Amino acid sequence: MALALDVGGTKLAAGLVDHTGAVLVRHQVSTDGSGAEGLWGTVAALVDGVLAGAPEGVTVDRCGVGCGGPMEGFGDRVSPVNIPQWRGFPLRDRLAGLLGVPVALDNDAKALALAEGWLGAAVGCPDFIAMVVSTGVGGGIVLNGRLLDGAEGNAGHIGHVIVEPDGHRCGCGAQGCLEAEASGTAIAAITGGVVRIEGVGRRSTQGDVRFADVLETMGARVTWGDDWVEVGGPPSGTSLRGVTVDLADLSDTAPTLAAVAVFADGPTRVRGVGFIRHKETDRIASVVTELRRLGIDADENEDGFVVHPGTPTPAAVRTYDDHRMAMAFTVIGLGSPGVTICDPGCVAKTFPGFFSMVESLRASTTADG
Ligand SMILES: [Zn+2]
Repeated sequence: MALALDVGGTKLAAGLVDHTGAVLVRHQVSTDGSGAEGLWGTVAALVDGVLAGAPEGVTVDRCGVGCGGPMEGFGDRVSPVNIPQWRGFPLRDRLAGLLGVPVALDNDAKALALAEGWLGAAVGCPDFIAMVVSTGVGGGIVLNGRLLDGAEGNAGHIGHVIVEPDGHRCGCGAQGCLEAEASGTAIAAITGGVVRIEGVGRRSTQGDVRFADVLETMGARVTWGDDWVEVGGPPSGTSLRGVTVDLADLSDTAPTLAAVAVFADGPTRVRGVGFIRHKETDRIASVVTELRRLGIDADENEDGFVVHPGTPTPAAVRTYDDHRMAMAFTVIGLGSPGVTICDPGCVAKTFPGFFSMVESLRASTTADG
């Protein structure tokens, strides 16, 4: 029996897999943990949980790992672009030490290619390329029935081929990589996913539904029905625009707009909401403080705030016992890895199932983490 581990920028998955490829036990958690050792602790706990769930009499005699790239020395050390905590991390050796069994580690998309050739879409096909569009974009190439490795094990890493020379900044430092233009999170959370909200529509009287109009002004695609509204990202090739907006009548949505504004192409100015300083928390100061904690340039003023778009850096966001703060910053977490929400239980006040709802949305828009 093999322990299989998938290390992605959004989630960590582990399972027990038998020689036919059947998965007997499966667990997954978010890619959370501060620093290299904090994240390693999350991995070790996940592995322990899977081993604890093993059926009677089953022994694990090997371990296989697919990990986001790039790596050095054919997996001696890993530096996943979407996992900033790990740079040159000796994941294979650490797992071997923990488990006491041989560990094979490879790039996750190369592992995907092997799996598709073994049991999936490429069975019987000697030459193919497998591609994954997830938190990142990766690929694996099989030629004459053999997986292509390259000099350090990174062959087929097509996510970092530059497709838009003036495009978005990529996590690898380059500009306009395929991954920066077309990753699952970029597509689903920021640019392309479509969410239909039932129960509110053009006939609704609740003011917050007008938030969809604000998103439309920013370039999102919005479609109204009598009792539903559909919101999708901007058409491909365009991005969300920064806006200047008076949210006096929609003030509860100000933190959410601040979160969306992070992913726009210019600054967003929110006015008319000075009174939200007296909500569950001072929502102007809290929003600005927590955006800055994520490395986002933001400023407060008397009756609102300004958010300058940027690439969030991983951090743990305080929520000030305010459900709107937790929900708004979760939106940033959908679009960028490494956002930890402190005290997530504060959402229980209005929506205890919030995080499972988000998880189900994410599961339906991206195949993998
Ligand atoms: Zn790149």
